[in-house]
Amino acid sequence: MARKVIILGEVKDGSLRNVSFEAVAAGKTIADGGEVVGVLVGKDVAGLANEVIQYGADRVVLVEDDKLDHYTSDGYSQALMAVINEENPDGIVFGHTALGKDLAPKIATKIDSGLVSDVTAIEEVGGNLVFTRPIYSGKAFEKKIITSDKLFITIRPNNIAPLEKDDSRTGTVSSISVEIKDLRTIIKEIVRKTSEGVDLSEAKVVVAGGRGVKSASGFKPLQELADVLGGAVGASRGACDADYCDYSLQIGQTGKVVTPDLYIAVGISGAIQHLAGMSNSKVIVAINKDPEANIFKVADYGIVGDLFEVVPMLTEEFKKLLVNA
Ligand SMILES: Cc1cc2nc3c(=O)[nH]c(=O)nc-3n(C[C@H](O)[C@H](O)[C@H](O)COP(=O)(O)OP(=O)(O)OC[C@H]3O[C@@H](n4cnc5c(N)ncnc54)[C@H](O)[C@@H]3O)c2cc1C
Repeated sequence: MARKVIILGEVKDGSLRNVSFEAVAAGKTIADGGEVVGVLVGKDVAGLANEVIQYGADRVVLVEDDKLDHYTSDGYSQALMAVINEENPDGIVFGHTALGKDLAPKIATKIDSGLVSDVTAIEEVGGNLVFTRPIYSGKAFEKKIITSDKLFITIRPNNIAPLEKDDSRTGTVSSISVEIKDLRTIIKEIVRKTSEGVDLSEAKVVVAGGRGVKSASGFKPLQELADVLGGAVGASRGACDADYCDYSLQIGQTGKVVTPDLYIAVGISGAIQHLAGMSNSKVIVAINKDPEANIFKVADYGIVGDLFEVVPMLTEEFKKLLVNA
């Protein structure tokens, strides 16, 4: 059944986040031969519209306003509601990001639709679209259908592969004008805590350190390994609590959920709360000096040894293979 689906493109530091392109791919599956409309909200975002089309959207709708320069749930919900009223889509896809997690329930309530969040796969079964999502901190999966008219989902980053980019694709770009009013919160300033680099929640490779790293400077070899692999550094809560790194790096039940292609756990014991944030990674490598550490139960590859010897050795070998190749 051909449907019209809108997907929200997410802009960070003037660029589209990867999850935007994954949302286009999810939108294509839901559209089933129908139309995928990219939506870009912000200030001066028109320059990004073509990229959304090159990744498979049929056209793009812009909502631009100075008051939308930074995300606020009031501002974005007004922008999205204007698009939904104008386009009357059959499906809506957001990323399951901090923005998507905040905005999607608000919009779903306003339009009285069902919402399946944190979707990792979409399939058609007996004429119904079935959405898979992890539950119980990733220990099980549930499959859901939506019974309301509009199919509204958020997708977990790094799970639904984007389509191949086609630079020759074209499509129309139009604007909707919305008077953004009654903002109850205004972002005055954003103070970044982490350094620039690969976004942890979208990274294909994550090198995460635990209390075994022993100090803030102990994270340096992990950063070097992550740099060689083009990845990001993460951490267990143990390492954050010990003040070895910032809480923005924390992975787990009360931190970020990541699903990279490669997760390297360094000096992390593998507590259940940590596994909740990384156990769905595609390949897990654990480095720990304790052969009984719980992390080895979820690891595809395990190295029993002292991280301060193993990590620099790995970095050197990857350098030979990747940098000097
Ligand atoms: C409500 C709640 C929520 C929580 N949420 C989270 C969460 O989101 N994320 C999270 O991570 N935790 C979370 N925790 C904490 C969790 O229970 C663990 O305490 C924490 O994950 C332990 O961190 P760790 O593995 O780094 O430290 P430890 O358990 O102390 O493990 C350190 C590991 O390093 C190894 N090691 C030591 N030295 C070396 C060396 N030289 N070389 C190699 N290996 C070495 C040790 O063998 C050990 O296995 C939560 C806890 C609670 C109660």
